[in-house]
Amino acid sequence: MEKVKKYDVIIIGSGFAGLYMLHKLKEINLDAIVIEKGSGVGGTWFWNRYPGARCDIESVEYSYSFSEDLQQEWNWSNRYSDQSEILEYLNHVADRFDLRKNIIFNSTVLSATYLESSNQWEINTETETYKSKFCVMATGTLSSIKQPDFEGLDKFDGDWYVTGKWPHEGVDFSEKKVGIIGTGSSAVQSIPVIAKYAKHLTVFQRSPNYSIPANNRPLSKKEIKNAKSNYSQIRKNAKYTRAGIGYNQFEEKKILDYPIDYINEELSTRWDIGGQEIFTAGFTDVGTEPKANEIAADFVRSKIKEIVDNPITAELLAPKDSIGCKRLCADSNYFETYNQKNVELIDINSTPIKSITKKGLSTTDKEFDFDILIFATGFDAMTGALLAIDITGKNHIKLKDKWKDGPRSYLGLSISDFPNLFTVTGPGSPSVLTNMIVAIEQHVEWIFECINYLYETDKNEIEANIKFQNNWMDHLEEVASNTLRYTCNSWYVGANVPGKKRVFMPYAGGFGKYREKCDEVAENSYTGFVVS
Ligand code: NAP
Repeated sequence: MEKVKKYDVIIIGSGFAGLYMLHKLKEINLDAIVIEKGSGVGGTWFWNRYPGARCDIESVEYSYSFSEDLQQEWNWSNRYSDQSEILEYLNHVADRFDLRKNIIFNSTVLSATYLESSNQWEINTETETYKSKFCVMATGTLSSIKQPDFEGLDKFDGDWYVTGKWPHEGVDFSEKKVGIIGTGSSAVQSIPVIAKYAKHLTVFQRSPNYSIPANNRPLSKKEIKNAKSNYSQIRKNAKYTRAGIGYNQFEEKKILDYPIDYINEELSTRWDIGGQEIFTAGFTDVGTEPKANEIAADFVRSKIKEIVDNPITAELLAPKDSIGCKRLCADSNYFETYNQKNVELIDINSTPIKSITKKGLSTTDKEFDFDILIFATGFDAMTGALLAIDITGKNHIKLKDKWKDGPRSYLGLSISDFPNLFTVTGPGSPSVLTNMIVAIEQHVEWIFECINYLYETDKNEIEANIKFQNNWMDHLEEVASNTLRYTCNSWYVGANVPGKKRVFMPYAGGFGKYREKCDEVAENSYTGFVVS
């Protein structure tokens, strides 16, 4: 029998989180490996290769801050870089910090079991068994795609694709009749690009989304130079802002304190600059006060109606719920695309999809013929990738049972009954409500310090104290319930996955405050944790 391979730390996933975690652990010479399902590094940026995929936080900020040399040597080409450039950056990081030799590719983790007798995690892939003292889940928050489960899909004669698992060789749309289901961020980014090449594109919309123009453009030499000379300040600011963004401090202004002319001017300026993070940074009460929210929402609705020529299409594209309740999209000519002759919008609320057919798709109103169908139908966010692994903690407790009524953790970092297991940007932390890279770096550094502390103090185990975990969950719920995000059917609350318990998953109290809380816990010898 082959010998079980033993390590100090096993990290699952080689995206932004897994790569940095590995780099940090190498600093203190721990024997660490990453197990990665894909054939390359990059996580979400490895899989999401759909046309138009790019980040919606400016690249200067959507990048690692941990190495001054790295940030000085890397040049971002665009304000918002595309998927291929971000993947190139992550490959550069893997090579530059010599990480590849500690990554096992093409390996899917099926289970992780805590062995109480030896204080070890046993990790099983399809072919191998590994053991480690610590296990770090760097599995991503929007990485587990919702598999399309439309009736009749198996009978479709054409080709079909899911945006979150796009073929590496790309897809040729020329002269093709294409249908796309979904109008979230992935669809909003891909629709304008597909429409450029396809003979005809039909968009099936269940709910319209608010989208702000990205105004993406190449960065000038001067902008790059400026960013490079100000990186330390930008990064310092980002650490303590609400959303982990250093450039664009939130204004402490409330819409309800200003006359409508002033508000419209301010929102127009921000709309013209572009970027969802710039647009939302204008006023603080949009996320909490329904009247303030309605003013900002109305502004965007009127912009959509200005852009889209056909008033019926414009009305369908204008969301009716509150703005920012679902994650705002950032687009390049999304609404403009509906003025193209080869693009049509179908409202599947009034004419629902009956089934996928041999030739295309059938709604209650019409039969559509397609060569290609695209599912931009989203992810089982925050918990999907974790629960895809059969995780068993102390006393044979399964994570999927423990979380049957929604995820519960302390600080989104640790779960009671699951010692020495850490979740990077897990549910219960600010995570998806922030610049993910800043949130990832903060978690990785906290986990690194924690593991280091355990070795230095000769301790074996750390796990969340159930009382502190419960208090944290109560606090998370209270903070979230004061925001409008709490109110709509978004993936933040798991509403997009049939049968998923409705629980607000990320921490909405702001990244800066959260970081202070984590620092305080660590400084006080890990208050709220059982260390033994
Ligand atoms: P999403 O926001 O969940 O959007 C999924 C879309 O599919 C929605 O329009 C949804 O309609 C529709 N849909 C789902 N199931 C359906 C069904 N059975 N029938 C008809 N329509 C259905 O997913 P996403 O666009 O992949 O984005 C998810 C998140 O990933 C984003 O919010 C963002 O955080 C991140 N992301 C970021 C970027 C970026 O700009 N950097 C790009 C892509 C993704 P309903 O709204 O009615 O459910």
